Amino acid sequence: MFKEMSKNIVKLTLVSAFVLFFSGCNSMPGDEPPVAEKAEDAKPAEEKKENLVWDAGAVQLEYHKLAPGVYAYYPTDAQEKNPKGYPVATAGGFVVGDNEVLVVESMVNKRLTDQVLGFVKEVTDKPIRYLVNTSYHGDHSYGNYVFPKSVSIIQHRKTKEFMDNKEGFEADKKFMVQYFGANRGIEDVVARTADIVLEDGARYEIDLGNKKVEILHFGFAQTEGDLFIWVPEDKVFWTGNPVVAQPPALPWLLDGKHEEVLATLKKVREFLPEDAMVVPGHGVPIQPKDIDFKIRYLETLHQEVKSAVEQGMTLKEAQKTITLPDFQGYALFGWVHTQVNVPSTYKELSE
Ligand SMILES: [Zn+2]
Repeated sequence: MFKEMSKNIVKLTLVSAFVLFFSGCNSMPGDEPPVAEKAEDAKPAEEKKENLVWDAGAVQLEYHKLAPGVYAYYPTDAQEKNPKGYPVATAGGFVVGDNEVLVVESMVNKRLTDQVLGFVKEVTDKPIRYLVNTSYHGDHSYGNYVFPKSVSIIQHRKTKEFMDNKEGFEADKKFMVQYFGANRGIEDVVARTADIVLEDGARYEIDLGNKKVEILHFGFAQTEGDLFIWVPEDKVFWTGNPVVAQPPALPWLLDGKHEEVLATLKKVREFLPEDAMVVPGHGVPIQPKDIDFKIRYLETLHQEVKSAVEQGMTLKEAQKTITLPDFQGYALFGWVHTQVNVPSTYKELSE
C-alpha cells in the first residue's frame, strides 16, 4: 500500500507541475521543476477556472459512427485542438452487438458519463453489458459508478488495486477536483472497480452478438494496467492515454519506464493493420502510422539522454541540451518533454 501511495504522490507532484506550467503556458519552462507545495497554496479551482486543464463542468462530447455498430466519442473541441497540440478531455466509444453493448471509458464525472449513456440510448435500446477502463486515471474510470449495476466492469488487476486503495483513491479524487474543477461532481465519485479482472498479457474476447471485441494487455504503456480494445471485424482500436492524440502530442512518462513504453508501442504498432482506425485517449480517431511519431520520439529521447549521461552531463544540462526540434509543437512540450520525460529517462539511464 505504501508503494501505491508514494507513487500516487509522485503522480500528484508531476501533475501539479503540469498545471502550474500549463497555466503559465506562454512562457518557457524554467530549469527548476515547479513543486507541489506551490499548487497547494493556490486558490480553489473554482476561483481560477482559467487554470483548469479542462473543465469537467463545461466539456461537451460528441459521437461518431466508425463502422456498423462501432462508435467513438470525443470532446467537441478535439477536431480543432488536436492538430494544434492542445490538450482536450477524454475520448472513448462503444460497440453494439445483436444482444448487448460494450462501452470504452466512463469519463470523470456523472455529467459526462450521462452524455455517454445518452449516446448509447440514441443509437440502440440494447442493454450495456460491459464497461472497459483503459487505466485507473480518473478521467477514464470515475464514471463507472453511474453505470447500471447489471454492467460488468473490466479492468487490469493493477487498475483495480489502485482504485480499491481507499486512501490512494481519495487523494486521487482531490487532485482531480483541483485540476478538472470543484463542484463539478468529481467529489461525488465512488470507486467502482472490476467484476472481470485481466492479467498481464491478457487477450480477452467478448461476443456481443455477431460482434466480437478483444481486450488486450500489451505491457507497460503508461501505467501498470493499460488495456487496449480491438474490434477485429471493423479494425477499430482504442488506446487510452498511451497514445494521447495525433502528433504533435507526446507520450507522458508519468511512471517512467521509457524502454517498456517504447517496446509496448512497437507491439501495438505491429499488431495494427495499416487501415485500422485508432481512437486515442484524448482526441479524434487517427491512423496507425500516427503512432510512429511517438515511437521515433521515444527512440530519439533514449539515444539523446543516453549520450548525455555518457558525456557526464547533469540532469539540468541534459534538460537544456535535449530540445528535440523535430518533435516540438505539442502545447505541453516544455512540461511533458523537459520536466517529465527527460528527467525520468535520465534517472533510468544513470542508474
Ligand atoms: Zn486521460
